[in-house]
Amino acid sequence: MCGIFGYVGKKQDVPNMILDGLKLLEYRGYDSWGIAVKDGDQIKVEKHVGKIGEAKVNLPDSNIGIGHTRWATHGGVTVANSHPHLDCSKNIAVVHNGIIENYIELKEELVKKGHKFVSDTDTEVFPHLVEEFLKTNKFGTAFRQAFNSIKGLNAIVAINIQTNEIIAAKTGSPLIIGVGDNEFYISSDPSGIAKHTRKAVFLKDNEMVVLGKNLELFSLPSGSNLSPTFEQLEESLKEEGKGEYKHFMIKEIYEQPKVLQNIADNYSDQIEKLGRSIKDAYGTYFIGAGTAYFACLGGAYLFSKIAKVHVNTEPASEFNYLEDFLTDKSLIIALSQSGETIDVVEPLTRAKKKGSKIVAITNVKGSSIYRMSDSQILLGAGPERAVASTKAYLAKLSILLMLAYAMKGEIKTGKKLVEESSSEIKRILSEKSLDNIKKIASFLNTKEHVFIIGRGASYPSAQEGALKIREVSYVHAEGIAGGELKHGPIALISNGTPCIVFAPNDETYDAIMSNAMEVKARGGVIIGVSFKESAIFDYFIEVKDISEASYISQIVPLQLLSYYLAILKNLDPDKPRNLAKSVTVK
Ligand code: GLU
Repeated sequence: MCGIFGYVGKKQDVPNMILDGLKLLEYRGYDSWGIAVKDGDQIKVEKHVGKIGEAKVNLPDSNIGIGHTRWATHGGVTVANSHPHLDCSKNIAVVHNGIIENYIELKEELVKKGHKFVSDTDTEVFPHLVEEFLKTNKFGTAFRQAFNSIKGLNAIVAINIQTNEIIAAKTGSPLIIGVGDNEFYISSDPSGIAKHTRKAVFLKDNEMVVLGKNLELFSLPSGSNLSPTFEQLEESLKEEGKGEYKHFMIKEIYEQPKVLQNIADNYSDQIEKLGRSIKDAYGTYFIGAGTAYFACLGGAYLFSKIAKVHVNTEPASEFNYLEDFLTDKSLIIALSQSGETIDVVEPLTRAKKKGSKIVAITNVKGSSIYRMSDSQILLGAGPERAVASTKAYLAKLSILLMLAYAMKGEIKTGKKLVEESSSEIKRILSEKSLDNIKKIASFLNTKEHVFIIGRGASYPSAQEGALKIREVSYVHAEGIAGGELKHGPIALISNGTPCIVFAPNDETYDAIMSNAMEVKARGGVIIGVSFKESAIFDYFIEVKDISEASYISQIVPLQLLSYYLAILKNLDPDKPRNLAKSVTVK
């Protein structure tokens, strides 16, 4: 996943500039970080394990350098495995986002040729490959030959201190070049460069860029020259802090009423237009990964219930293996907060080859998925910084709810429900309701496992709630369809096992309450999330009945429970271990 930042030009305080850039990109990975700069005829490197946080850098001034914040795929989280990686001659430094799938074979060959490796990463083969090709070629050709020798979806940036150039190429993850006055920036996302320049080139897959005195663009496969397309970055790309909040996660939970109100107020036209494309399509597929997939699943229930329309949904990483039947009449609706998720990009790339139409529902304008789609709906949720998605999930579900009503020709009802959900979330976030949720978090803090059950459109809520708890508090949580409980999972219930039960005012109420009783009969402690109290509940969280919009608001107590659990455990909910916000490796 990783964040990449680089600079070449006339400025001298490049180490601190790169450090600042990496701080903005840290959401992409935070196992370890490192920076390399040119110092006279040497490369100076600094690397550290752990989050950047308030770190300072101790490198000399320089006018060229690259930095990286890592999410380890190959090789443990150690200083030696942190990027940048160097060649034997120490003229080339490389940072990398992705996986070099054939690195074992390449490494064997390079070792035979005498190259010395100091890390366990796949990345380290790249500087040595460039070094090998440099024996007979100039830097540009050597880099291109090296890139064309590797397999997988990759973005790689290298500096050469002999030529004073940065070269970058990609076949997967994003790279954006910021163009200044005789100076160039390169970053994994536009936020890293927006404060320096608004003029940018979005590198496309299979392109290579050489940045030195000028910007030169090449085709990776053929090496022929290409003309770059210069774009203006949006003014809205401003850095947003935590404000009065201790963490981004809680700030983003509190932003939800506003996000939903914006969708209710402004989205009817674009949603109705999307509704018309669904009617024209022969087969509609919702795909997403993680939380976005649970929004897809929620959407599928809403479509069946409200619009009486069948849509297919799969986790995007599995859709890869299920898409042989796609045609040029198929419509794929891809949900992704970041718009960069590789598990979504991959099946979309294949679907595009078959001529299928693609609609992106994403939070990031200009992201890879936004760019590869035929049309787009932006979530308008503002930057989501906490790794655990909250406001983007609610935005996606609200759009899908309005879409289901649009399909029925009743978008006004959908809009009104989203508005009501916005008000109900404000109530859930009031002090009285929060005190109750904090009390339940204290109870859960004594437990190793939590089970969450729901039926129908509350089944995705159970899954998403369990994911939130796992992600930020590391408590084992399982979201289970109420009816599935007795087919196995109930064996795990014993005295004191907590079970959260979604019991909204719909056709699932009686059956889910029977499931709650089955758990209680085996000693389980029942936490009811419902529109009304019940004697079965040991703890009760009220979520008012607002018809299908209840499926939107009922997830908020679970977001809060997971946040308070993380706080009680003294964990950082914004940057949970082993995770990253933007998942750009397979
Ligand atoms: N595969 C490389 C590594 O494990 C890069 C991972 C990343 O994208 O951060 O170091």
